[in-house]
Amino acid sequence: MSILHLTVPRQLEETLGSYCSRLAALHGAYSAREFSGYLGFSFTELLRGSDIHVEIFSRIASIEEADVREVLIQILGTTLRNVRGHMFTRDHIVSTKSKFCPHCLLDDESSGIGRRGSRAYMRISWLPRFSRVCPIHQSTLVTAIPGGLGMYGDAIGGLRADNAEWSDYLYRAELGQATPAQSYLIDRFMNRPTEELWLNKFPVQAAAHFIDIVGAVERHGIEVSFEKLDVLEQSACAQRGFEIAAGGQGSVKAFLAGLVKGYYRGRSNMGAHAIFGELADEMSYRANLPGYDRIVKLMQRVAIENLPIGPGDNFLGPVRQRRQLHSLTSAAEENEIGAHTLRNFMIERGLIASTKCSLARAVFHPSAIRDIIAPIKALGLTGAARAKRLRNARRSAN
Ligand SMILES: [Zn+2]
Repeated sequence: MSILHLTVPRQLEETLGSYCSRLAALHGAYSAREFSGYLGFSFTELLRGSDIHVEIFSRIASIEEADVREVLIQILGTTLRNVRGHMFTRDHIVSTKSKFCPHCLLDDESSGIGRRGSRAYMRISWLPRFSRVCPIHQSTLVTAIPGGLGMYGDAIGGLRADNAEWSDYLYRAELGQATPAQSYLIDRFMNRPTEELWLNKFPVQAAAHFIDIVGAVERHGIEVSFEKLDVLEQSACAQRGFEIAAGGQGSVKAFLAGLVKGYYRGRSNMGAHAIFGELADEMSYRANLPGYDRIVKLMQRVAIENLPIGPGDNFLGPVRQRRQLHSLTSAAEENEIGAHTLRNFMIERGLIASTKCSLARAVFHPSAIRDIIAPIKALGLTGAARAKRLRNARRSAN
């Protein structure tokens, strides 16, 4: 097998696709795909992290296997990508498009080593969704597909096919500010030591996604659509979510409990979406992935602590824990008494206020009504409770 004698130094943190693209440019190939074809491997498969193609390229370009593992994007099925030992879903990491800081690439070209036109390189730390602002230039990263068909992932070839310069992308970058949240996540992604935080218990994507949406919900309300926010606002949301999570589990639970109090409108409208909005949707959609499952469980626990739900209910999955709170309806059902009678007794004893709003939203500990169940039962069943008991008896007889 041939080994390339004309090479450029591979940069620390440079993606394999970028390095191959630069070598192709150095050898005068039209594109990285054409270049890989001459050398007996597939550039597309290299981008996908296919073992055999990565192996051939590493040997040709004389890269150590350990170094390859650091910058490899491994495509696992249609949804998952493994990068640096971290699992991502495809919407949380860029694998075939180019995502970059045009200022960094211009700096590479003006001061880098090697032949001009093949000095600029792509950093792996730019690829996760949580990388939004270049910490060196305080400028937003740009996502682009340079060139047309056949140029996916081929940064240098694509640029040449476009007859463009990196400076052509400057207009798409905005002034921004790299946040402590982003630095923390990039450090985790790069497997560098970080501060000991509660978030460290979660895989990096789940941690990043959670703080994105927590911050967005706090800044814009539960119906926020995170994808529609501009990149600087997304960055501000992530930072706000990070600040809440940095306070530890107690702070996160207090934030979630605040949402429950703010959005609970009564038992008839008590689904997870009505209470947690986008946070419920985004987290539960991925509840089968590591980290998200525990976040969803935590949200469910906060709901059980603050809402009249118990075994038999479904709130972000079936509820199995003991009930901590009742509403008028749930207490009436569970004790097989009439809700109206219960309400009247509770008002009479000053356990709930008689306003319309408080009746719909009344929430109380089961022990609050312990002493009034027997007197209510002694009055005899109400029409509704009698009908229910009859229904249940018929059902068990069938
Ligand atoms: Zn930069």
